[in-house]
Amino acid sequence: MGAIVAIVGRPNVGKSTFFNRLIQRREAIVDAVSGVTRDRHYGKSDWNGKEFSIIDTGGYVLGSDDIFEQAIDKQVELAIDEADAILFMVDVETGITGMDEDVAKLLRKVKKPVFLVVNKVDNAKRAEEAVEFYSLGLGDYFTVSSINGSGTGDLLDAVVEVLPETEEEEDELPRFAVVGRPNAGKSSFINALIGEERYIVTDIAGTTRDSIDTRYNRFGFEFNLVDTAGIRRKGKVKEDLEFYSVMRSIRAIEHCDVCMLVMDATRGFDGQVENIFWLAARNNKGIVILVNKWDLVEKETQSVKEYSQKIRKAIEPFTDVPIVFISALTKQRIYKAIETAVEVYKNRSKRIPTRKLNDIMLPVIERTPPPAIKGKYVKIKYITQLPTHYPQFAFFCNLPQYVKEPYKRFLENKLREHFDFTGVPITIFMRKK
Ligand code: GDP
Ligand code: GDP
Repeated sequence: MGAIVAIVGRPNVGKSTFFNRLIQRREAIVDAVSGVTRDRHYGKSDWNGKEFSIIDTGGYVLGSDDIFEQAIDKQVELAIDEADAILFMVDVETGITGMDEDVAKLLRKVKKPVFLVVNKVDNAKRAEEAVEFYSLGLGDYFTVSSINGSGTGDLLDAVVEVLPETEEEEDELPRFAVVGRPNAGKSSFINALIGEERYIVTDIAGTTRDSIDTRYNRFGFEFNLVDTAGIRRKGKVKEDLEFYSVMRSIRAIEHCDVCMLVMDATRGFDGQVENIFWLAARNNKGIVILVNKWDLVEKETQSVKEYSQKIRKAIEPFTDVPIVFISALTKQRIYKAIETAVEVYKNRSKRIPTRKLNDIMLPVIERTPPPAIKGKYVKIKYITQLPTHYPQFAFFCNLPQYVKEPYKRFLENKLREHFDFTGVPITIFMRKK
């Protein structure tokens, strides 16, 4: 699981420019699920071999129609709650503003690592001007230019230094996250699933931030549930639930193997649900879609088949995903939901022996080889599944750069046809041999 770095700061200091610089290089390399809309405020980055997620909280907050001051408060609170390190960005061009001082005041109380980042330091003269930011009372600062990239290396060196080690999960139990929009029925689903407290085996000890994990033993399965519904912030409960739900989802998704994406059947698979779906897919998590409140749907007008087709249309090209129609209220198929999540978990940890993989895939490739480009023929020699936590395959060939997206999609479909990877994103690499 990755550490989370949050960027906070008032509008126009350059947060999104900086954010883009961090994720850009990586997005170009990591050929995630192609052709999907990317979340412009959340992405992965890595530095010195350490991987982390980076969140431009400003992007989320300003997406809502809050006035700035309140929005900033929320941004900072959120970063304090959810992130492992906070980058507080200010702007040397405008100097210190009242809003900067307000944010600094909040951040001075924080125990987590806070980095004061003075942006737009494009030249030496501006580097001198940056000293005024000492008066924010946050100690040393880093100067960067998000536009030309200077200073970012030193900053990232310091940031990854304080991030927690991304240790492999010790626990062999499946980790299921229940995610979805507010009011989709996540809490109801969890309650239906668990019924009584006695099914809770242990609360995994740890810091408050990890306490969203609870171990359950239910229906003959043992699993950890990563809960986003149960936690409601004291005080400021109702406001901006959508926004919090996105942030909670990010956190929960990072910490799970399989996402149980709960949606409200009466509202449909809308853009917000789709965002959460791709968040999970891009993180290479297993996915089960739970169409909840199925008890409310008029079965004459909406059949399971039609409903499923609509969802699959929305999630193209990654359509090999189980969809279970449930009712948290009547408990219809909630056992099936867990059973399906367990299957997806198994698919995700599946290892295909190299011999078997080649015996099946090489003849397929021979029948339908990659199209020749400029008279050059690609010859795929062998295939192996990489020893990673989720399915990744390397296809060794003479001219890897000549294999384009459509052919990779073809290979993926063939893999899915022959081996069950339902609910699991697959990554395909072409490698030089
Ligand atoms: P955000 O609102 O904090 O996300 O800020 P943006 O990233 O949208 O940037 C606001 C403006 O500052 C844009 O016009 C950027 O081009 C500009 N900007 C961002 N970083 C730098 C920088 O390092 N140097 C200069 N000179 N301008 C920058
Ligand atoms: P959450 O915000 O995702 O945790 O959603 P809740 O579990 O709080 O549910 C929101 C509302 O939907 C509540 O009024 C629930 O009683 C209702 N609800 C949840 N699941 C179902 C269901 O399967 N059928 C019906 N009819 N109502 C449901």
